Amino acid sequence: MHAVAQGGRGKKAPSDHPHARQNALKSRANEQTVPQTPRTRRARPRFVALVGEHHAVTDPAAQADFLEEPRGLYHGRTPVVLRPGSVDEVAAILALAGELGVPVVLQGGNTGLVGGQIPFSGEILLSLTRLDRIREIDPASNTMTCEAGVVLQTAAAGVDRLFPLSLGAEGSCTIGGNLSTNAGGTAALAYGVARDLVLGLEVVLPDGRVWHGLNKLKKDNTGYELKHLFMGAEGTLGVITAAVLKLFPAPKSIETAVVAVASPEAAPALLGLMQDRAGDNLTSFELMARICVDFALRHGTGLRDPLAAPHLWYVLIELSSGVRRGLRDLMEETLALGLERGLVADAAMAESLEHRAAFWRLRELVAEAQKFEGGSIKQDVSVPVAAVPDFIRAATVAALRVVPGCRPVPFGHLGDGNIHFNVSQPVGADKAAYLARWDDMSDAVFAEVLARGGSISAEHGIGVMKRDYLPRVKDPVALDLMRMLKTALDPKGILNPGKVV
Ligand code: FAD
Ligand code: ZN
Repeated sequence: MHAVAQGGRGKKAPSDHPHARQNALKSRANEQTVPQTPRTRRARPRFVALVGEHHAVTDPAAQADFLEEPRGLYHGRTPVVLRPGSVDEVAAILALAGELGVPVVLQGGNTGLVGGQIPFSGEILLSLTRLDRIREIDPASNTMTCEAGVVLQTAAAGVDRLFPLSLGAEGSCTIGGNLSTNAGGTAALAYGVARDLVLGLEVVLPDGRVWHGLNKLKKDNTGYELKHLFMGAEGTLGVITAAVLKLFPAPKSIETAVVAVASPEAAPALLGLMQDRAGDNLTSFELMARICVDFALRHGTGLRDPLAAPHLWYVLIELSSGVRRGLRDLMEETLALGLERGLVADAAMAESLEHRAAFWRLRELVAEAQKFEGGSIKQDVSVPVAAVPDFIRAATVAALRVVPGCRPVPFGHLGDGNIHFNVSQPVGADKAAYLARWDDMSDAVFAEVLARGGSISAEHGIGVMKRDYLPRVKDPVALDLMRMLKTALDPKGILNPGKVV
C-alpha cells in the first residue's frame, strides 16, 4: 500500500504520463509557435534590467520549478524568468516585448492543468508571484483588493468574511491564475465560478498600457463589461495584476453529510430536493462512484468507509448558513424525505470538524489516489445537470469500447453538471500503451459530452492540451470572435502564443 499525502489541497501530484504522450503534446504545442530563442536571448539584458538581476532567473537549475507543471506532463524552456515586483514593472516588460516583438508567457502558481503557463518555444516567462499584496480589505463594501500573485488560501484566510473560491490547489494557485482560468471548485454551486466573484480588475495590456478597472461596483452599465474578456482568457489577452474580489459573511454553521444514493438518477433528484428545501444554504453537492471511495481508502491513510455497507454511488452534501441554528434539522429532515422518496439509501452526517474534514479528504484524495492505480486519462467535462447520469452511463460504455477493462472513475461537482470523467487503466495493463490511447479515449468521451450539449472543459481550460479540439467543438462564429478579439488586443501575438486559439 502507498500512502497518499493527506489534505490534497495544494499538494503537487507527480506525473502519471509516459514520455510518449508528453512528447506528442509538446511537439504539438511547439508546432504552432515560432521558436523565439535567438531574438529573445539577444534582448534578455534589456528585460533583466527592468526587474533587476536579483529577480531575473537565468540559471537552469533555478528555473526548473517554473518550467515543469504539477504532473510533469509539460516541460518548457526560457532564456529568463522575470519576477516583477510592481505593476509598473509588468507594464515596462510588456511595452518592451511589444516593441521588440518578443513573446511572453504568464505564470502564477504553476498549478494549471492544460499547459497554459509553460513557455514551450523559449518565450520569456513572466512570473507574477511577487505581486503578492492584499491592497485593501473593505468590510463595509464586502470587498478585498488583491494582487495577482496572492495565493488563494492566503487571500481566503486574510479576512474574517468568506472568500468562497475553493480548489484542491488552493495552497499554491494564485488569484491571477484563478481568474485567468475562471476556476470552479467545490463551492461554485452556491457562489458561482471565479468570474462571478470579481467586481473590478487591473490589467496590463500587451502593448504595456494599464487598464485601471479596480472598481467596487455591482452596477455599472457604462458600456462593454471588459473584465469578463480577461477572465477565462488564460493569459492570452492581458496580464491581470490585481482584482477587487467579493466577500461574503463567514458561515456560522456548516453541516456535511455523505449520502449513498439509490441510483445515479437519484443524485440529481436529491439535488433538486435539497435545492427546494435548503435554497441558498446548499453550498456543495459532489458525486463519487464507489470506485472513487475504494481508491481513496486503498491509497490514503487514516480514512474509513463512510457508511456501514458499500454502495455504488455517493454524494457529499454541504449546507452552510450565516445563522447558527436550524441547519442540522434542515439536513436531517431533507435526507429523511429523500429516504422516504427512495432517493437516499443510507447517510452519515459529520459529528465534528474532524469528521467533516475526513469526508472532504475522501473526496479530495480521489484524483491523487488514481495515480497509484496506473495511468489515468482525465477529463473535466460538463453537461446539463439532469443529463449527468445518462452521460456517465454512455461515457462508460464508450470508454470500455476504446479500452476493454479500463476503469472509469467519475466524480465531481454534480451540482454544476461538472464531472471529472477520469478513466484508470485496466488492472495490470501496460501504462504507456494505455496512455497512448489518450486521444481516442478523449474523442469517445467528448462525443457523449457533445451529444448532450455539454462542454469539453468545465474547469481547467484549453491551454495547449485542448487547443486542437476547439475548432471541432466550438461554434465557428464564436471561434471567429475569439480570434478577432485576440488580434485586436494583441496584434503582435505577444501573450501566451499558441495557447487557446
Ligand atoms: P498557473 O497555472 O500559473 O496559470 C494558469 C493559466 O493562467 C495560464 O494560462 C497562465 O498563463 C495564466 N495566468 C496566470 N497568472 C496570470 C495573470 N496574472 N494574468 C493573466 N494570466 C495569468 N481548477 C478548477 O477550476 N477547479 C478545481 O477544483 C481545480 N482543482 C485543482 C486541483 C489540483 C491539485 C491542481 C493541481 C489543479 C486544480 N485546478 C482546478 C486547476 C486550476 O486551473 C488551477 O489550479 C488554478 O486556477 C491556476 O492558478 P495558478 O496560479 O496556478 O495559475
Ligand atoms: Zn473540479
